[in-house]
Amino acid sequence: MRFTEFNFLPNLLEGIEASNYETATPVQEQVIPPIMAGKDVIASAQTGTGKTAAFLLPVMNHLLKNHVDGQVGALIIVPTRELAIQISQHMEGLSYFTHLSSLAVYGGNDAQSFVAEKKALQMGADIIVCTPGRMIAHLNMGYVNLKGLQFLILDEADRMLDMGFQDDINKILQTLPAKRQNLLFSATMPEKIRQLAKKILHQPVEINIAISKPPEKIIQKAFVVYEPQKLPLIKKLLKETPYKNALVFCSRKQTVKQLTRELKQGGIKVAEIHSDLEQSERESVLSAFTAGRIPVMVATDILSRGIDIDTIDVVINYDVPGDGEDYVHRIGRTARADGDGSAFTLIGEKEQNKFAAIEQLLGKEVEKSVVPKELGEAPSYHPRTRSGNSGNRGPQKKFYRGAPKRR
Ligand code: AMP
Repeated sequence: MRFTEFNFLPNLLEGIEASNYETATPVQEQVIPPIMAGKDVIASAQTGTGKTAAFLLPVMNHLLKNHVDGQVGALIIVPTRELAIQISQHMEGLSYFTHLSSLAVYGGNDAQSFVAEKKALQMGADIIVCTPGRMIAHLNMGYVNLKGLQFLILDEADRMLDMGFQDDINKILQTLPAKRQNLLFSATMPEKIRQLAKKILHQPVEINIAISKPPEKIIQKAFVVYEPQKLPLIKKLLKETPYKNALVFCSRKQTVKQLTRELKQGGIKVAEIHSDLEQSERESVLSAFTAGRIPVMVATDILSRGIDIDTIDVVINYDVPGDGEDYVHRIGRTARADGDGSAFTLIGEKEQNKFAAIEQLLGKEVEKSVVPKELGEAPSYHPRTRSGNSGNRGPQKKFYRGAPKRR
């Protein structure tokens, strides 16, 4: 689903485009419409699924239309200062072409940041991202005005309860207006989260995005390369790796066509499959592939789900798939039944952040293989991940920790 289908305001769409988001992730596809319809939502979604944008975008869209001067529009409560900073940065990227203001309230040892936070809390900011303890500290001083609050969002709610923030959350709840929209995100849904949800949410829409993990027996490797190194590398892999059937994935059909041409010229027996082929053509390509007459097939993601060919023992991602779910589906085409399988991913320079997000979702780092020397020097793997700076977030405004922007 493309972002243009959500009815977002044009200046928000500009921020999405500048952040290089093309299509919505599954959690975004499921969560954005009910939030835009004004419903409370409870979603189980892990980090790496795109959950942050899933709640930020509809909230931002609403606040752009319904901004109230001098009021806090949305309060996002999170367990850690790292997450508060990260969400704030995410928001800065997405709101680049809007006038929305945001503030991360997470504490710091200096008196200066407290004063800056106090000032912004008094003057109002469209979106405040806070850790519970620091917010309580401000609330205790009596100057925070949350009367105009339209959204309450709890992110990583299970972690907050594990860290003992239940009482702090209850205290914050007491200061909020009764009429508001509530969103709760949690990686897991234990009973205590259900209890919390019962207390906070009103007839919520429940969304469950559980990502399946790839089978352990698939050997996953990745090559970190410059874009021009991909073609010689895949040729080498296809010539030197033993396989019965190798399935190569590309995100775009244009790339599928071009790569197939190049591989054919390189003497590799290969066919292509994508949405431009008629159903009968697809079937005949598939049967040639399964029968082993054509050992290599280059495909778009149309083949990443459902197809079950026992003889596929190698999957190569010529580019990094859009999200973790696609990655799992792509590599799951190998090691079917009792067979073994290997999955190689070629990570271009601009795809490092995307791959790091997938690794985060898988809960493990994929081994990086050494790029053969004859292909020249390869880049190092240096994604900007959650624990570091921002990910693939497009234009970054200077991180805002002062008073709200003037309109
Ligand atoms: P999150 O699960 O919110 O921590 O997001 C994980 C990563 O995915 C972040 O680096 C986001 O910038 C990125 N991301 C979120 N939505 C999309 C999208 N629709 N397309 C591509 N990347 C995205």
